Amino acid sequence: MSPEHLLAFDREHLWHPYTSMTAPAPTRLVTGASGSRITLDGVGDVVDGMASWWSAIHGYRHPALDDAVRRQLETMAHVMFGGLTHEPAVELAARLVDLTPAGLEHVFLADSGSVSVEVAMKMALQYQRGTGRPERTRFLTVRGGYHGDTFDCMSVCDPDGGMHTMWSAVLPEQVFGERPPRLDTGVDAWAAGFRALAAEHAGRLAGLIVEPLLQGAGGMHPYPARCLPVFREVADEHGLVLIFDEIATGFGRTGTLFAADAAGVTPDVMCVGKALTGGYLSLAATLCTGEVARGLSASDSGVLMHGPTFMGNPLACAVASASLDLLSTGDWAGDVRRINAGLQALHRIDALDVRVLGAVGVVQLDHDVDVAKATEAALAEGVWLRPFRDLIYTMPPYVCSDDDIARICAGIAAAAEVA
Ligand SMILES: *Cc1c(COP(=O)(O)O)cnc(C)c1O
Repeated sequence: MSPEHLLAFDREHLWHPYTSMTAPAPTRLVTGASGSRITLDGVGDVVDGMASWWSAIHGYRHPALDDAVRRQLETMAHVMFGGLTHEPAVELAARLVDLTPAGLEHVFLADSGSVSVEVAMKMALQYQRGTGRPERTRFLTVRGGYHGDTFDCMSVCDPDGGMHTMWSAVLPEQVFGERPPRLDTGVDAWAAGFRALAAEHAGRLAGLIVEPLLQGAGGMHPYPARCLPVFREVADEHGLVLIFDEIATGFGRTGTLFAADAAGVTPDVMCVGKALTGGYLSLAATLCTGEVARGLSASDSGVLMHGPTFMGNPLACAVASASLDLLSTGDWAGDVRRINAGLQALHRIDALDVRVLGAVGVVQLDHDVDVAKATEAALAEGVWLRPFRDLIYTMPPYVCSDDDIARICAGIAAAAEVA
């Protein structure tokens, strides 16, 4: 099919994320990707400021990752995980247990981030049942979060920015505290309010779920590491299962390997996804402590009630291990620091707010972005961006050169100018 035919069929038949079928937003045809660049039909190579929704940390067509997939193909692409196991899954689980905060020992391999959050929430609910508190069925969280698009995930997404009004009749009702403050000076007042809210609802709460250090799709909101021990203390005080959703923050993005590491806090359950496979295949994981595993195993069913068809897919596991090996042997921390330094140029943009954390740069306008105009302006600078709401941001691949980062900053500036 010609590019015109592909785009015409796409417009008629394919849903894209958060789009309408009757009034589809424009889509662009990608014909290839290599390193930090994606190739757009009719445009050429552009720097990918989004790392394919924060996942392609090592860039595209990385030889080691390509090889891992090819080598795994020679053994098997997939087998079911019920009653069977294989080296790629075991190798990956060993790496995850080793790299994640001490105490997280048991690994559930899920097929997407949302599913891993569903599993985490199910773990918390089953843990409470197993430890004699079946009436604890709600979750405590903070405003401004994003945890995925399936129903239980939506229930803990930001109640205003998310789709709560639309789904209020079908979503479980959760308990929302204020979002942690941007600056250290606000932490004590915020913590006092959060502790009071937790105390008020404790008898009904199964777990506490948050994105540590950086709220992503809910508003690109970084907050002080000093808030993380507050979550840990609140969970301990009231017997809640503490879930850190590190799907966006995991694997170096915020400057430490996991955001939890910034405060030395170990959650009871942790979700990882997005960059887990270096952006190659859909895979996520839910890790939990021995205590959670034992508690939920004592629940009425005696087992963790979840098992996706493509659980532990060998191709995905093999490339995830290869991606983690690149992190372990490479200098991701140096790259993230270098990118952070380059992204400081964003502070020169005239905007409502500019924030830079790790390899994340965010420009907030005082109005909602005209996405079509902003996209055009960034492409004219040779950069692919995908703004949302009032935010133009980047979470680039770690392999971006200093020139790439300068170009991304120019693209964001151009987008902010016209949007
Ligand atoms: C992207 C994301 C999810 C959902 O992951 P999917 O793979 O899109 O289902 C959940 N939580 C956070 C923090 C995310 O950034």
